[in-house]
Amino acid sequence: MGQGRPRVAVVGAGPSGLYAAAALAADPAGVDVDVIDRLAAPYGLVRYGVAPDHVRMKAVIRVLQQPFEPGTVRFLGNVHVGEGGIDLEELRRHYHAVVHATGCSVDRRLGVPGEELDGVIGSGEFVSWYSGHPDRITLDPPLAHPGVAVVGAGNVALDVARVLAKSADEMAETDIPDPVLDVLRGSGVTDIHILVRRGPQHVRFTPAELRQIGELAHADVIVHDDGQLAAGAREEHGGDKRQKQNLAMLDAWTQVQPAGKSRRIHLRFLRSPVEILGDGDGRVRGVVIERNAIVDGRVVATGERETLDVGLVVPAIGYDAHPIPGLPFDPATGTVPNVGGRVVRDGEPVAGAYVTGWIKRGPTGVIGTNKSDGHETAAAVLADLPNLPEPARPEPGAIRAALDDHGIRYVDWAAWQRLDAEEIRLGGERGNARVKVADRVAMLAACHPAP
Ligand SMILES: Cc1cc2nc3c(=O)[nH]c(=O)nc-3n(C[C@H](O)[C@H](O)[C@H](O)COP(=O)(O)OP(=O)(O)OC[C@H]3O[C@@H](n4cnc5c(N)ncnc54)[C@H](O)[C@@H]3O)c2cc1C
Repeated sequence: MGQGRPRVAVVGAGPSGLYAAAALAADPAGVDVDVIDRLAAPYGLVRYGVAPDHVRMKAVIRVLQQPFEPGTVRFLGNVHVGEGGIDLEELRRHYHAVVHATGCSVDRRLGVPGEELDGVIGSGEFVSWYSGHPDRITLDPPLAHPGVAVVGAGNVALDVARVLAKSADEMAETDIPDPVLDVLRGSGVTDIHILVRRGPQHVRFTPAELRQIGELAHADVIVHDDGQLAAGAREEHGGDKRQKQNLAMLDAWTQVQPAGKSRRIHLRFLRSPVEILGDGDGRVRGVVIERNAIVDGRVVATGERETLDVGLVVPAIGYDAHPIPGLPFDPATGTVPNVGGRVVRDGEPVAGAYVTGWIKRGPTGVIGTNKSDGHETAAAVLADLPNLPEPARPEPGAIRAALDDHGIRYVDWAAWQRLDAEEIRLGGERGNARVKVADRVAMLAACHPAP
């Protein structure tokens, strides 16, 4: 390594990238860290995934932003690393090491006929839309039809169902952008069917999330469990405290009459979608579901089918990643092969290349899981830095000049703070803490106001 301070780029300003950046910047030897994100706003899925009505969960932002405040870490937003932005090879000319923290943003597919129909929208896309992600703000999901199917047994399925079950007035209290609110105001959705492949004893919901759907002002919860809970499933928690709580809640719900609220969330256990039906115009008009049975712990289709009348199907069955050009990729896991954060190709480390977060370990775990993960990767970078070759352009200002040359109008921390302030101002107009700006042009205009 040369005489100057080592320079590290972290690509991705989600929690994993920001935890890694903070750990790198805290090294007493002194490391220059730039955090690069394709969006003008930082925080990844904390901003664009965590449900808008889960305000307390988003408070982690106060921790994630800390390294930017004294300028220990620098932000370069609105910079896509890859096609149409700055490519990895060029980035490597400016940094001793690059930590990739780009997450997994591709929806897993159901693999059933009809999935290409208009009105099948993966949870990643759907959540991005209501969260005001600039890539999805024009999505306009079909909400005129009373029925919606959400496929999945995790918290994301519950998030989607809850957002659809709340009234627009309730959602207006969150930071969702006005165009999303307008669509929700026109919603004709009354029945949200959550399709769970296995039985109530197998769900992966966290009890706090499950409880919330039972507390909705305008929606009843109706459990369709084929009598599984009464037949003994309520005792099949295997000593797992969370599962015991889930089963107690579900069991209690089977024993109360719906209150006659204007919307309903149907939890349909042991059901899988087998075909999505379309109308003559290629729009979803129904979903064929098949009953499953659990035989020796395995899910077995029974052949018994029925059709649900729905106009929207939201598969919430997990995520995949796009390969990162220039790095190895394992399509089976949707991750970049690595050992403790060091990228490996054919078993050999790729000098100066690291990963953290979902792209490192797959799309699992909570926000906090990314802290230890980011720290592990940062430790690997710090251990390797003394032996990494000097980049061609290590001067601190060179990357900004290169971005200027490419005509990329990057967003630094001060510029992001102007957008942040604008969102807080808009929030004030709606009586909230914040309302998001979702249009890319408007975001950049708020970052770089005309003089
Ligand atoms: C719908 C949903 C709800 C969730 N809710 C919760 C919750 O309530 N509580 C909880 O603890 N966890 C929740 N999680 C999990 C949590 O959000 C993840 O664990 C965490 O965000 C993963 O962090 P990450 O940094 O790996 O990826 P991400 O958060 O996805 O960050 C990746 C970042 O990389 C950027 N990026 C991608 N490609 C490029 C590129 N080519 N160039 C530059 N930048 C790029 C993206 O813009 C993004 O900012 C939720 C996840 C989802 C999907």
